[in-house]
Amino acid sequence: MTTPLLGQMMDVPLTVSSLIAHAARHFGATEIVSRRIEGDIHRYTYRDCEKRAKQLAQALIALGVAPGERIGTLAWNGYRHLEAYYGVAGFGAVCHTINPRLFPDQIAWIINDAQDRYVLFDTTFAPLVDILAPQCPHVRGWIALTDEAHLPKMQTALPVPLLSYETLIAAQDGAFDWPRIEESQASYLCYTSGTTGNPKGALYSHRSTVLHAFGASLPDAMSLSARDSVLPVVPMFHVNAWGIPHAAPLTGAKIVFPGKDLDGKSLYELMEAEGVTYSAGVPTVWLGLLCHLKDAKVRFTTLKRTVIGGSACPPAMLRVFEDEYGIEVIHAWGMTEMSPLGTLAKLTWEQSQRPPEEQRRLREKQGHVMFGVDMKIVGADGKDLPWDGVAFGDLHVRGPWVIQRYFQKEESPLIDGWFPTGDVATIDPDGFLHITDRSKDVIKSGGEWISSIDVENVAIAHPAVAEAACIACAHPKWTERPLLVIVKRPGMDVTREELLAFYEGKVAKWWIPDDVAFVDELPHTATGKLQKLKLREQFRTHILPTAVDVPDCPFPEPS
Ligand code: AMP
Repeated sequence: MTTPLLGQMMDVPLTVSSLIAHAARHFGATEIVSRRIEGDIHRYTYRDCEKRAKQLAQALIALGVAPGERIGTLAWNGYRHLEAYYGVAGFGAVCHTINPRLFPDQIAWIINDAQDRYVLFDTTFAPLVDILAPQCPHVRGWIALTDEAHLPKMQTALPVPLLSYETLIAAQDGAFDWPRIEESQASYLCYTSGTTGNPKGALYSHRSTVLHAFGASLPDAMSLSARDSVLPVVPMFHVNAWGIPHAAPLTGAKIVFPGKDLDGKSLYELMEAEGVTYSAGVPTVWLGLLCHLKDAKVRFTTLKRTVIGGSACPPAMLRVFEDEYGIEVIHAWGMTEMSPLGTLAKLTWEQSQRPPEEQRRLREKQGHVMFGVDMKIVGADGKDLPWDGVAFGDLHVRGPWVIQRYFQKEESPLIDGWFPTGDVATIDPDGFLHITDRSKDVIKSGGEWISSIDVENVAIAHPAVAEAACIACAHPKWTERPLLVIVKRPGMDVTREELLAFYEGKVAKWWIPDDVAFVDELPHTATGKLQKLKLREQFRTHILPTAVDVPDCPFPEPS
């Protein structure tokens, strides 16, 4: 056997610190603008950002945080959160972004599963920290992302110190060299509820994060450049804001962070003030923005492109954006387990010569895979299905930024080396993916997951309920909302209102179903398994009471 001839290039690992170091050195004066929790607009540069990220790294090391340990964040999109992205991962610790929209018990569960050493939090989440602190024994301190003067008043004495972020980093000088770490080391940890059972962690590596940032920046992906001013509406606690906090420093794009105010008016004003050319978010957010444009009779003057994903982009939304406002919509699909980008609906030169309606039909689909991701659809027998745009089956993916297992879980979710996404899709002869259904038992409302099983378990605990099923129903604002289908116990009664009231305090408010339907029986397979697909079909035309008269909806038909 001959020894393979190795390349003779530098052995430089792909690490996330190189992204911020690159931006600080070569786009040092480019701005990062944030609407702060304090209410004002904060602006500084990539150079300032790297310095403060280094101060944070020094502060965490001084607190005894070791490489590999997890640091949680409960924060909106803002400059301090960006500093945490780099200050934590840059020295080899793991930045664990936590979704604050979940129910407190679930958040505590996630913090404990991740064994976060410290948690950085925006002061808006102080009441949440009050609830979490006694339940999280691994956390050695809660760090409020503010200065000493704005430290929140906690309701109860925390079991561990409450620290001020600004005080912590002010004690450091920022004279710090990012250490060399191996590219296979962990960088970020994101939990997803888009699975059955407890949320599961996707643990990215430096290599996967940097490769994803390269891929995301490509012209036929997010197409970011140093001439862009990008406003990520997608939260930094949701799959690393689709990689924008990494792709922007890589390309030198200006970043505009919206903070906590994600209503149409606030977003519009910030976009206009900061010359935003590019944005990204879920359909629900864009609906709010389109409503504002219509009501206030205003137009964008700088926005050129926007990525819409996380849920299917309604074709009507794409039309309104493009035909009425001249803004290019890039429909994208991906998932937490994929860092998240997988496909984007951009056309080839040949496709862009086809009749306009055919082009539109292609662009309404979830799109073509980017380099770095491979995909296939398989039938119930596990065999590949043809790419004819008709055959639909389970969508499987693989690639260097796709997980091979979940954090702290030994068993592999892979099937023959491919990750089963839980989405059901067709792929057409152009290679365009179209998501047609979902085999995973979850509901996506406004871009966030609702676990149908958890919703069902609450209902089952009601004495008058014999059987419960929770399914997704189309909704013009939230894309999907939960509908609870109930079989009552013989001789017992319960009303819709009583059942909905039964949920109070048991799940997050936005997990409470929008409606209850009572049936005599639920469809089951021969082995007794609930047939959700059949049930969804049965209630396909069900109109939720919350889905009528959605105020000022610019396009009334449900997606
Ligand atoms: P998450 O991990 O929260 O980002 O959710 C990923 C899941 O959201 C995917 O597996 C799909 O079920 C759904 N999803 C994401 N993007 C789209 C899209 N463009 N169209 C339809 N479903 C989508």
